[in-house]
Amino acid sequence: MQGKMRAAVVLEPGRLEISEVDIPRIGPGEVLIRVRSCGICGTDFSIYTGKYSREYLPLIPGHEFSGEIVEVGEGVENLKPKDHVTADINMSCGMCFYCKRGQKLMCPEFRQLGIHTDGAFAGYVKAPAAQVHKLPSTLSFEVGAFVEPISCAIHAAKAMQVTLGSTVAVIGDGTLGILHTQIAKFQGAAPVILVGKHRERMEKAKILGVDYLVDIATEDPVERVKKLTEGRGADFVIEAVGTPETYELAIAMTRPGGRVAAFGITEADATIRVKPFDFVLGERSMVGSCAGVGNDWPDAIKLLEYGRIEPRPLFSLKVPLEELETALLMGKENRALLKIFVSPDVTKREILSS
Ligand SMILES: [Zn+2]
Ligand SMILES: [Zn+2]
Repeated sequence: MQGKMRAAVVLEPGRLEISEVDIPRIGPGEVLIRVRSCGICGTDFSIYTGKYSREYLPLIPGHEFSGEIVEVGEGVENLKPKDHVTADINMSCGMCFYCKRGQKLMCPEFRQLGIHTDGAFAGYVKAPAAQVHKLPSTLSFEVGAFVEPISCAIHAAKAMQVTLGSTVAVIGDGTLGILHTQIAKFQGAAPVILVGKHRERMEKAKILGVDYLVDIATEDPVERVKKLTEGRGADFVIEAVGTPETYELAIAMTRPGGRVAAFGITEADATIRVKPFDFVLGERSMVGSCAGVGNDWPDAIKLLEYGRIEPRPLFSLKVPLEELETALLMGKENRALLKIFVSPDVTKREILSS
């Protein structure tokens, strides 16, 4: 398809412009998707400020999206125009040591759509057909755009292998932290504890079924988690903030024999202090989780289709593309806000839930 589209382009750190650009041209094995919704994520803010992906600028960000197929490239058989879809954003070479072992996240050529290549804060986005997943018609485009964050949370949940009746503590009351508590709950964890510091978000998590809230600003989170677990610490702890301090807390509140999931992204050169003693004599373990990949995507779609995850209370606003920059800043300043979507279907800001 030829023509122009509107897109949000980060030209240089701190400079985002809505401009007219060419609609992406697809090649064999690719599809063109008309974007219907794209969620704003912390990573988008980091791209905007230049903390992340600076070497890929100018770039159209946006990696949590859904839309309708408008064109399919040569050789694409399983998808057709009007299909509602989302796409696995993780791209790799397919040929290296890691790719051959099904570990594409470690591929030296690893790229993410909307993070390293042009994404979906635009009228259209292109994606490799092999990575596109159809969405059931019962799911809204916002829910469809939320498959990406859910796939990430599922990836971590699979790595953690939470068992029935075990205690799960999540550090971080952002959208993903709350999502982790929901997944832990339906995995059969009991109790589920959320450690955070933003009152409104914590209250929302409580409504969604978190058993205990621990306010990091007013109480010692390690002491409190130990108190809730007969002095042992939690069986599983998910770090979903990404600071050295919260990583140290995560290890400190894990019981002997327990496991920590490293989920929050720190600065690349951040370090933490670890007592090897806790890992050797305490047989604690730590598992890293970077992104939802492969089967995590269809699994996320099924959990949404059958109502195992109800993400809509985490949806705050829907804004037009022109408001992306405002929304990026708003998301940082107003800590009561959770997920904000950019949608071509609205001309002014819409409140999704409060
Ligand atoms: Zn994201
Ligand atoms: Zn590779």
